[in-house]
Amino acid sequence: MPELPEVEITARLLDRALRCRRIDSALAPGINALKTYDPPLSALEGRTIEGVGRRGKNLIVDVDGDLALLIHLMSAGRLQLFDKPAGPRDRTSRLLVRIEPLPGEEERPELRLREFGSKQAAWVKLLPGGELDQDEALAKLGPEAWPDPGTPEELRELLDAPRPLHSLLRDQRTIAGIGRSWVDEILWEARLSPYKRGADLDADEAAALREAIVATLARALAHYEQAVSLPIPDKLPMPLEVHRHEGEPCPRCGETLRAVHFEDYVVAYCPREQTEGRVLKDRRLSRLLK
Ligand SMILES: [Zn+2]
Repeated sequence: MPELPEVEITARLLDRALRCRRIDSALAPGINALKTYDPPLSALEGRTIEGVGRRGKNLIVDVDGDLALLIHLMSAGRLQLFDKPAGPRDRTSRLLVRIEPLPGEEERPELRLREFGSKQAAWVKLLPGGELDQDEALAKLGPEAWPDPGTPEELRELLDAPRPLHSLLRDQRTIAGIGRSWVDEILWEARLSPYKRGADLDADEAAALREAIVATLARALAHYEQAVSLPIPDKLPMPLEVHRHEGEPCPRCGETLRAVHFEDYVVAYCPREQTEGRVLKDRRLSRLLK
């Protein structure tokens, strides 16, 4: 489930390895992955990669001649760099960008968008660089959650809506980069209930939340800088303390961590520190008992 820290470390590692490298060829074996047709993928041939960056949870590969690959990994995609081309039987491949070998080197690097699971959701667009900002994936993004989501007061204005923090913080139009995993860690760090409404945040809570967003994401990135290297593993070692730790003791106070299960996500929290001791209704359980 790549979110800001996972996408950022991917962009950093790829940028270090690919900046100034020339593209040999590109193809998209994934049936539905490539969402644009003009310019064609062949427009990348012979061009030089100028950099790899991130906006929200999107990856951007800038290429000379004012072209850019905009990539969204969705829930099960990975962008990886291998030192030789994929075999024909790799069914996970959605996009392959072959890089020209350096003079005298045997490695034939291949940038590969892969996707795990049965769903094909990860996508790629090849756009003229000037059109990036207008693309729907980027045009409506809120401010970046990291490194600077604004002052506490600006954050309070951003979240001033009658919706739970857990959903507001995951809304990319409100603030960009946070998803189902890191939202739990951030709210736990800030000692805020996932169901507190954004409009009810006071100044102190907004300050704690801002601090928690920046510190939590920075810590994750520092961890990845130590633990992750190319080709970038299929499964990143996410340093989560609360999310996916339901039933275990809270690392801070020892209380048993609880979770509420929804159809496609789980909200984990510490009742003692976040919900004044209240255990929130488990929707999965209540559905089963109906
Ligand atoms: Zn606790």
